[in-house]
Amino acid sequence: MFDDYDSERLVMSTKGEMDAEENVLRPKTMADYVGQAKVKENLGVYISSAKLRGEPLDHVLLYGPPGLGKTTLAHIIAGELGVQIKLTSGPAIERGGDLAAILTNLNEGDVLFIDEIHRLNRAVEEVLYSAMEDYALDIIVGKGPSARNIRFTLKKFTLVGATTRAGMLASPLRDRFGVLCRLDMYTPDELAQIVTRSARVLGIDLHADAAAEIARRSRGTPRIANRLLKRVRDFAAVQGETQVSVQAARFALKKMDVDELGLDDTDRALLRALIEKFGGGPAGLETLAATINEDANTIEDVYEPYLLQLGFIARTPRGRVCLKGGYEHLGMKMSEKQRLQTSMFDDE
Ligand code: ADP
Repeated sequence: MFDDYDSERLVMSTKGEMDAEENVLRPKTMADYVGQAKVKENLGVYISSAKLRGEPLDHVLLYGPPGLGKTTLAHIIAGELGVQIKLTSGPAIERGGDLAAILTNLNEGDVLFIDEIHRLNRAVEEVLYSAMEDYALDIIVGKGPSARNIRFTLKKFTLVGATTRAGMLASPLRDRFGVLCRLDMYTPDELAQIVTRSARVLGIDLHADAAAEIARRSRGTPRIANRLLKRVRDFAAVQGETQVSVQAARFALKKMDVDELGLDDTDRALLRALIEKFGGGPAGLETLAATINEDANTIEDVYEPYLLQLGFIARTPRGRVCLKGGYEHLGMKMSEKQRLQTSMFDDE
């Protein structure tokens, strides 16, 4: 009955239809936000200081792979500051005028969250520069010799930008953020805490061992952990189990083709292509993407971060290479030549 299960969408750490309950699962306070100790500590200091000074918080850039908690953190920042948050995203703002309308509607101290901020177009970015720096909007009125520049003053606000990679931002934009926070992948212990809390919120009776099993296979990503939890619950429910046991979790994860380490078919196809088609690499990202019929950006944002974290692949100036762990995971043997070529990228 479960054979045509679409596992691909489960592992995708980007948002999808199945994340409708995401808002319910978002922790509301710093205290409930698991992990990211350093980011939380620093942000806590900046937020307290801004409140003491009666000033808005400096602009914050959050970066890291999808599903690590950037949107959640933006909500928490606004909550701790005691201000409203407005949410938008880079691709949603098409013209400078759209951004101007959003900015003029903010109240003093509000947080404006722009997801995928690297996807803002140039014209919109230009408007953002003076808004971030001087809380001002420069509008050109009229055409030709009679054109005039009119400056509008905005209420002071905090921009919280989110992106998967800080390097994708134009440097004038990046330089205008006073606070840069990199979110790291979560440890299995942290993910187990997140899954346990989510189970409580969703009213799922989850055995601690099952929580640990889901956590271990969630690619360091809370969004994936929550998604696996819900699917595991579905399998257990259909089988008539009231408590989700570790056996039920394993059965469901197997049906979803999520392996012991949380890798899915696409991860394995990528490793296999690197090994079988490119002799272990180096292979360029675009070539690799075409070989496995995936989008290069998706590989870079969704699949690679975890494979890099596991030490299964490395990025080299000449392309991606498969490391020893990657071969071993597929039960394949590395040639001596390949071992020598990649040894400098392997920490083992
Ligand atoms: P991003 O904006 O980075 O793509 P989100 O903030 O939307 O990620 O988080 C995705 C899901 O993961 C949310 O539903 C949230 O409940 C959960 N989540 C993320 N980070 C944490 C965390 N530190 N603690 C608990 N849950 C988290």
